[in-house]
Amino acid sequence: MGIFGPVEPMSDYFPTKAFVRATTLMRSFLIAERDRLDALALARNREKAIDNENLASEMPSIFSFCEGYQKHFMGYLTAVMPQHPHGVRCGPGCGNCCKHFPMSVEPFELIFLYAFLRTSDSLLDSLEKCLSRTHRFYAIREKAEVEGGEDPEENALHAYFNEGHPCPFILSSGSCGVYEHRPVTCRMYFSETSPEFCVSEYLQTERNRSFIVYLPDDIEELIADISTHYEFLALPESLYDGLLAMNVMESAFTQGHL
Ligand code: SF4
Repeated sequence: MGIFGPVEPMSDYFPTKAFVRATTLMRSFLIAERDRLDALALARNREKAIDNENLASEMPSIFSFCEGYQKHFMGYLTAVMPQHPHGVRCGPGCGNCCKHFPMSVEPFELIFLYAFLRTSDSLLDSLEKCLSRTHRFYAIREKAEVEGGEDPEENALHAYFNEGHPCPFILSSGSCGVYEHRPVTCRMYFSETSPEFCVSEYLQTERNRSFIVYLPDDIEELIADISTHYEFLALPESLYDGLLAMNVMESAFTQGHL
């Protein structure tokens, strides 16, 4: 059971025309980027394509790839959502699930989102909130590790959600303030029950039937292959400390005049 409820994720979708089309398009798009990065690494005589030396010059390609990747994911959602038997009850301006500690953010998504954020007047305020939430999450996780249990990370994620820290990017209206740039991890959560049950007291009960939309394994592997090309940047995979790490690399943006 995940932190958001008892619904088992659907890992196999029926290969409808829409599913085959969406996954084929996404696969080709990802293969092209993986091959581009492999060739770039080879040309640079490096094991991986992206590092601190060429991050600035690679920014335009990274932005355009990330935008395409997120668009393909949205196309995939359109293709698979009709297969969920109970539909979804999520709606604009809900944001009840935007109190989790977002994990599994790809490095190119952090770069893309940070590039957007750094043009905003509220960047410093957002980073301060990212810092306080990161400190809080790791304190909770440390405690969970000391206490032991089957899955301290999962317990920590659950405990963090229960404390109700809103995402630094959520607007007072409940909408996401970085909607067009939000990572795929934020695009995967849905609920087939009313939003009133997407709160801590109903988590992991039958009343909260939230679920995650997963990609096919081979597509996940392609994304992982692409992300390994960023490993020299050593970006954390969680959203808030990932953005803090990007802030340390701020000079890459000024060098690239972006
Ligand atoms: S980035 Fe947006 S969608 Fe993701 S948790 Fe924050 S407010 Fe919610």
